[in-house]
Amino acid sequence: MPILIALILAFIIVAVVARRKAPTRACRWREDRSASKGALVKYNCITCGAEAFRAQGQPDRCLSGQGVPRL
Ligand SMILES: [Zn+2]
Repeated sequence: MPILIALILAFIIVAVVARRKAPTRACRWREDRSASKGALVKYNCITCGAEAFRAQGQPDRCLSGQGVPRL
């Protein structure tokens, strides 16, 4: 019986980790140079609709649910 409980716990942990990593993997950032401010380039996530301003490359994670992008 302890083995069965351990297996269920392992499955839950894997499911939680996989769900946490999913948005990052699915995010695809696209440059929007018309809305950029000087050296800051605006990026739009075409997967979740998040917006971000970055000077050095696109964001490396999903920013959905963070609201208005901060400069
Ligand atoms: Zn996203």
